[in-house]
Amino acid sequence: MQIPKEIKLYCEKCKTHKPHTLKQFKAGQKRTMGEHTRKHEAKHVAGYGGKARHTIPKKKQGKRPTYMGTCTVCGRKTYYIAGCRTKKQAELI
Ligand SMILES: [Zn+2]
Repeated sequence: MQIPKEIKLYCEKCKTHKPHTLKQFKAGQKRTMGEHTRKHEAKHVAGYGGKARHTIPKKKQGKRPTYMGTCTVCGRKTYYIAGCRTKKQAELI
């Protein structure tokens, strides 16, 4: 799957569609001592050998690649999630 490096997206600051440059999005590190992380571990994971209880094995599916788009006019950032699932890494052209 190939995605162009620059596409037109809606910019909330400019209130119109403007060209955005795409960059691979990488999620930040999760907080291990966050309130809901601790609650989730205590309620669903603790005592089950690291695996969450009541998990039903699912068929592996590809992921929709996520990008961070930056407005070329004002610099505001927006998420861009591609429309279809892919197993291979999508490349920017
Ligand atoms: Zn803008």
